[in-house]
This record gives sequence, structure tokens and C-alpha cells, in this order.
Amino acid sequence: MNQHYTPSNNEDLQAHIQKLTLKEGLSHLDLLRPVGSQTSKSPCFQSQGTLIHLDHFQTLKRLENNQVEVGAGVILKDLLSFLDQKDLALPNIGEWHGQTVGGAISTGTHGGSYFHGSVASVVKSLTLVDGQGQVHTFQEEDPEFPHLLPSLGLTGIALSYVLQCEPSFTIDLKRHLLKFDDYLPRLLNPQGAEFQAAIWLPALDYVLDYSGERSDTIDPHALPQRETRFNTPTLILDWLSKKLAYAGRDFEGQTWRGRLANRLAFWASRLLKPRQYSGLYHHMIAPLNGSAEAILKKRARNRTPPEGEFAVSLTQAKALIQELRALFAQTGYYPDRPIGLRPAAAERGTLFASQGQAAVWVSLFIYPENPLMQKIPKILMRYQTRQHWGKCSFQPLSEIHQLYPQWSEFKTYRNRLDPQGKFLNSFAQELGLTPNQSKEDS
Ligand SMILES: Cc1cc2nc3c(=O)[nH]c(=O)nc-3n(C[C@H](O)[C@H](O)[C@H](O)COP(=O)(O)OP(=O)(O)OC[C@H]3O[C@@H](n4cnc5c(N)ncnc54)[C@H](O)[C@@H]3O)c2cc1C
Repeated sequence: MNQHYTPSNNEDLQAHIQKLTLKEGLSHLDLLRPVGSQTSKSPCFQSQGTLIHLDHFQTLKRLENNQVEVGAGVILKDLLSFLDQKDLALPNIGEWHGQTVGGAISTGTHGGSYFHGSVASVVKSLTLVDGQGQVHTFQEEDPEFPHLLPSLGLTGIALSYVLQCEPSFTIDLKRHLLKFDDYLPRLLNPQGAEFQAAIWLPALDYVLDYSGERSDTIDPHALPQRETRFNTPTLILDWLSKKLAYAGRDFEGQTWRGRLANRLAFWASRLLKPRQYSGLYHHMIAPLNGSAEAILKKRARNRTPPEGEFAVSLTQAKALIQELRALFAQTGYYPDRPIGLRPAAAERGTLFASQGQAAVWVSLFIYPENPLMQKIPKILMRYQTRQHWGKCSFQPLSEIHQLYPQWSEFKTYRNRLDPQGKFLNSFAQELGLTPNQSKEDS
């Protein structure tokens, strides 16, 4: 059973950490783990020690130059409402807004765009408490800054951030059901639509694409809110088409299953007609509603398959996606939900998935017993894909460090901020992070 601690302010938190620092020989019960809404699908927020809740860190303040100071415990939805009141916007966000700002930034939560990075990419400065109870404010231009975002609560407990916002904007978005071969060049075009998100139904060989651009006005004839990508009709279509692709997909229609699957694809193209949406940016980008509590209940009730989301460099994306497509068609084994596809802008930061170059996010929902899991981890490693830190790990955790060129610098700097390893949890240790006093580091 975890202990829980909800500090009232910085000083309380600092005193708590400093008291632990004086203690000799920390046990696993003394470990500290900052948590947000605890909705991540990876165990990054778990610990055997004390969970630190930032519920009292609720600053929301407008600064100059469209910048905003925000407390790490603020729920993203509340930040968006605050920004709406001030006519400001974040350039891009994920599809749900029930997580905390601290959780979103610490995991690299992102939307779909080659033009805008993740939420963490707009952080101008960050204030945190380190493992010895010292408060630091880091600016974007500080040399250590790239190690701090995202960093899964391993470099300290974030108290607040200064975010670079922009004037509020609206988006015109279109939904299209496209044949896979027509969709792929659109996904791989870095000059394509500014905002994009899609789901691929591989046994149908179609992709439902949502892409949009900024607009000056709202189109009153268009729908004011986008629906979620993984919605009931698409889940049913995906499931039915996979049943028909049992033992391999017959695209030529030489068998009755193949002919029926082709018929289903035809009906789907009639059913999922093109649609237009127009409205405030977050109504177009973040259609998923519900509090963290409701989302966690739904996840348990629906027994949602584990989801891993992986960024593959834009140069390798076509080869990876085509290899997956061939694997599914030949074996008749498919992921247990449609596959999410979104573009990712190049970012600067040691643990960013799309560091240094643009990438494509491939989101896979797969139960552990699905035979695909015997092949997928190796394929993901071969293409050097990097996982979303808040989603499941399909690659061996002990090998993931190979994918990050600055990993040892991160490890050294992390140990400087937290020499006793108070912020380490099992997830971090499996990734190969160890406290200073371990043999490996001495
Ligand atoms: C329904 C749903 C939809 C989603 N959609 C998207 C999406 O579209 N795009 C996307 O990229 N992701 C998406 N995610 C993933 C989600 O955004 C992240 O997992 C996010 O971290 C969850 O935030 P949280 O507040 O629950 O953080 P938690 O799960 O509680 O914590 C996440 C990590 O952040 C650390 N942390 C939390 N607070 C602090 C702090 N103050 N200081 C330092 N470290 C801290 C924790 O220690 C942990 O390592 C989705 C998740 C759900 C459940």
C-alpha cells in the first residue's frame, strides 16, 4: 500500500524531502513519486513509496508575450478554459484533457502535427524541487534544460511551468475514409495539413483520416465538435473485417471471406461519408471527454487492450508501416483495435521520442496473448522506434536506453539532482537508472 502526501506549498514539500535526506539508508518506503491523474498506461507513475499529489499547485497566471504560468497540478481542461478566457491557445494538445499539466509534460503528451511539437515543447521555464529539497528554476536556454522535459518525474517534482501560448485560433477539419495507398503519401508529407490524426483499419485496408488547417472564421454549416477517432462504428468495422481476414486477408476476393471483406470495405466507404467540422482548436483536436476517474473505470470495464505508441523517424516510417501491413495480411493476425497514426514534429530534448527529426506515431493496441507480440517488439527495435512514455512498453525495457544518444548524460545529470535515488521507481530501474551510490556509478 502506498503512502500519500499532498503538500500545501513549496516549503512543505521542501521540508519533507530535506527530512528524508538526513535519514541514513533509505528504504523503498522512502521513495517519492510525483503523480498527476495517474492515467498513464505505463507504470511510470507507480512506486512502492510515497505518492506526491500536486493538488494545491494550481497557479494560473497570464504573463507578458502570450506566456502563462501554470501549476503542475492543474488539469489540462482547466488550463484550456483559462486560456479561452484570455483568448489564448496552446499550439497543439493530445486528444484528451483530463490529465494534469505535470503528467502531460513529463510524459511528452502530443497531438498530431509536423508543425507543432508536444505540450512540453512550449515550456519556456520550469520550477522544480530536486532530490535534496532545493528549488530550481530552469530556463529554456540553460544547457541542462533538454534533460528535464520530458523526464517522468525522475529529475524532480515540477511545481510550475511557464508556457508559450499564442492567440486563440479556430480550425476547419475534414474527415475522409481513404484507401490505405491513397492515405500513406498524405501521412508522409511533412508539408501536409497542419493538424492530423487518423486510424487505420488494416483488414479493411482503409484509413479514416481527420486533417485540418487554421481558419479565420467558423463555418456555421460544419459540425462544431469532432468525434473521437476510436468510435463505435469504426471499432465494429475493424472487428468484422478482422474476422473475415482469419488466416490471412484475401484482397483479390478469390474466397468467400475475401469477397465479403471487399464488400464490407465498399459499405464502409458509403457509411463513413466525408464530414466537415469547424470550431475552436481544442474542439477539433481534443474530442475525448471525461474525467480521469471516468476514463479509468471505462478502461477497466472495456478491458481495453494495452496500448503502446511508438515514434518512427519520418525516413523509416514508410518501411515500418509497409512491413506491418504485410505481416498482418500474411498471418491474419491483427492488433486488437484499429491502429492510430499521427505525425510528429522534430523536438529538442534527451527523452523526446521525435528528437532531432520529424517522425510518425504508430499506436498499437495488442493483448499480450496475441501471436503478433512474438514479432512486434523486435520489429519496433529494428526500426529504432521510441515509445510514448505514458503508454505501454512493447520493447524490452533493458534495451530502450540504446535508442537515446544522450542517455548516459541524462543518467549523470539525473543523479546530480537526485543523488540518493529518491525519485527512482521500478520502471526507472528496469530502464537501467540507478542511484549514485550503486557500484555501476561509482
Ligand atoms: C484517454 C486518454 C487519452 C490520451 N490521449 C493522448 C494523446 O492524444 N496524446 C498523447 O500524447 N497522450 C495521450 N494520453 C496519455 C496521457 O496524456 C499521459 O499518459 C499523461 O501522463 C497522463 O497524465 P497524468 O496526469 O495522468 O499523469 P500520471 O499518469 O499521474 O503521471 C505520468 C508521469 O508524469 C510524472 N509526473 C506527474 N506529475 C509530475 C510533476 N508535478 N512533476 C514531475 N513529474 C510528474 C509521473 O511521475 C509519471 O512519471 C492519453 C491518455 C488517456 C488516458
